[in-house]
Amino acid sequence: MNSTNVPTYQRTNVPLVVVQKYGGTSVAGVERIRAVAKRVAAQAREGDRVAVVVSAMAGETDRLIKLGREFTAEPMSRELDLLMATGEQTSVALLSLALRELGIETETFLGFQAGIVTDENHGRARIERIDAEPVRTALESGKVAVVAGFQGATKQGAITTIGRGGSDTSAVALAAAIGADRCEIFTDVDGVHTADPRIVPGARLLPKITYEEMMELADAGAKVLHSRCVEIAARYRMPLVVRSSFTDGEGTWVVPEEEHMEGAIVSGITCNTGEAKVAIRRVPDRAGVTAAIFAPIAKAGINVDLIIQNVSEDGYTDLTFTAPKEDLRRAMTLAENAAREVAAGRVEAAGDIAKISVVGLGMRSHAGVAHRMFEALAKEGIAIQMIGTSEIKVSIVIDIKYAELAVRVLHEAFGLAA
Ligand code: ADP
Ligand code: ASP
Ligand code: MG
Repeated sequence: MNSTNVPTYQRTNVPLVVVQKYGGTSVAGVERIRAVAKRVAAQAREGDRVAVVVSAMAGETDRLIKLGREFTAEPMSRELDLLMATGEQTSVALLSLALRELGIETETFLGFQAGIVTDENHGRARIERIDAEPVRTALESGKVAVVAGFQGATKQGAITTIGRGGSDTSAVALAAAIGADRCEIFTDVDGVHTADPRIVPGARLLPKITYEEMMELADAGAKVLHSRCVEIAARYRMPLVVRSSFTDGEGTWVVPEEEHMEGAIVSGITCNTGEAKVAIRRVPDRAGVTAAIFAPIAKAGINVDLIIQNVSEDGYTDLTFTAPKEDLRRAMTLAENAAREVAAGRVEAAGDIAKISVVGLGMRSHAGVAHRMFEALAKEGIAIQMIGTSEIKVSIVIDIKYAELAVRVLHEAFGLAA
């Protein structure tokens, strides 16, 4: 560890085992794939053992989903997974060819060939285990392993995908399975910032962030890392760094809390426009009703996020919750059925919302963050529809048309600019 407690890796005679992951923009065309190959080759020529995990070329997964949706509106299925997984199949093949063009020996793996075993939840499967022997053997024989991100297979051999943005998780899980020394996530920004630099141009690069804060940021919508990848990195204490595939900066190290003592009150602001709001009117106010409504929704695997319930004087409540937009149709159907059963009123949905969150470890010991947040938004005339808090996060739901303004206003209010 150096003076800033950012792990540095001194060269020794022992080869390092490194997993590098390249996202969609980094492999978006022939020249970019060549640039990635050069970077990987340089690392391999240093004597390191390198496994590379790649995403589909930018826009490809969206294109494939749209194509599949021409034929079905059904939820994710075995066939849709088979279709989506071809995006990563293309990019591993191309990167492997580009590496060979540079004289690097490679072995190319689809998810199942890399031993990635998942459950059967198509479109959002979870990795159950990785039989890392094939990748390890390739590395030991001096080859670069080129592994398709985002995909795995069930025990029965059906191809699965692990959720949008999931290649980060493939990379960290593989790093843990092969006992890598570190996992590097190469992307199109030079690290984790105090807010999405596309929304706040003055957002500051964070040299370090704790696992816990990163998990909350990712969960709340900072798509720079997939939240499950941070969970796995934390569990295995895997050194994780996010850096640019276009420049040579140090990037952001995700570290345990004890290595980041001076944790700021607020580390970052996020914006999530991927959720919708469902409101059930006139729900009878008696014990067991709320449980009866949420049971089928939970059973369907729909992730309910914020919930508010207000009781009125006449013995009825209004119950509002948020859920991912992609699950809205199913959530509506389940809520309507449940509403009928408990004799509640009508069910309404709205997709024009944004969830804005403020995250920081320092909130544990500093009161008043929520208050400052409400005040800053009030000054801009932005109405708050829902509020949720955790130990290190405050989230609010607002009209989507104010989403970017709210992020900028809060970034300013908490003094996060460079
Ligand atoms: P990749 O294809 O490499 O996985 P993603 O598009 O999934 O890349 O993630 C990188 C993007 O995340 C950036 O281009 C940026 O717009 C966005 N982003 C959102 N929040 C943040 C943040 N706090 N710091 C950095 N990037 C962020
Ligand atoms: N290609 C997948 C997606 O677009 C996985 C990833 O990029 O991480 O969601
Ligand atoms: Mg990503």
